[in-house]
Amino acid sequence: MTALVSGLVECGVDSKRADFFITHMHADHAGLVSVLAGEGARIYFGWADAEIMRSTTPEHWQKQIDFARDRGFPAEELEKAIGSHPGRRYSPRTSLNLCVSKDGDNMTVGDYQFECIETPGHTEGHICLYERDKKVLICGDLILVDITPNITLSSEERNPLKDYLMSLDKVYDLDVEVVLPGHRSIFRDHKKRIRELKEHHLTRLEEVVSILRKGEQNAFEVASQMTWDIGYKSWDLFPPAQKWFAFGEALAHLKYLEEEGDVGWRGEKEGVVFSLTQSKKEAHQ
Ligand SMILES: [Zn+2]
Repeated sequence: MTALVSGLVECGVDSKRADFFITHMHADHAGLVSVLAGEGARIYFGWADAEIMRSTTPEHWQKQIDFARDRGFPAEELEKAIGSHPGRRYSPRTSLNLCVSKDGDNMTVGDYQFECIETPGHTEGHICLYERDKKVLICGDLILVDITPNITLSSEERNPLKDYLMSLDKVYDLDVEVVLPGHRSIFRDHKKRIRELKEHHLTRLEEVVSILRKGEQNAFEVASQMTWDIGYKSWDLFPPAQKWFAFGEALAHLKYLEEEGDVGWRGEKEGVVFSLTQSKKEAHQ
């Protein structure tokens, strides 16, 4: 709050008279908006994230808990993971005047003419702003340097990794000189970073396939064997919240492989397990 307010003051922005464009619903991007915004402020969101913001109820969390438990997340750790989830602790507390921003919507701010670009993947309703003349891309958590945006699956209906890779392709050809991301440093060469991110996910997909070559497993077991760039010596030492993010990331990769015809799953309730399809197994032989 202190950093954000001092930044706004430095730019000469009176937050009580401002409208807000929120790239996505995650608490580290949207959490303070209800404190900052004045009465009647317009809060722009992508449609899917706006839907979630409007309907985050205890059932929303329960659905995620059930989904994770069925796919192997240990019940005793689930409570801790969800209890410490930033989305639960830091989401905006009051109801907001949400306005849906769609692909191609234009917004004029002073000398800037911004265009909204829908970029689902990191969240379903993730949106960016592009300034064509000034060649500026405000990209939220679509493209980050040093770290990779978390791509997670929390219900069966979506294929977030596929969405994400398509969103990267969608912005690749834009003429961009400066990228303003939601985390870490400002950068310039968005094309180079996009190529690295795509390569990263290809490597991850291959890693998941090689883990499944050992045999049928649940998603928690798959996640525990993936490579994680984190300062804990073993999977068992990961805090539950980190296991939760890793698990969601593993599921997003499993889902992508499933739609590619490389992975299948069977089972129900707490016994959903994944394996390579016969054709994928044979392709390797
Ligand atoms: Zn985020």
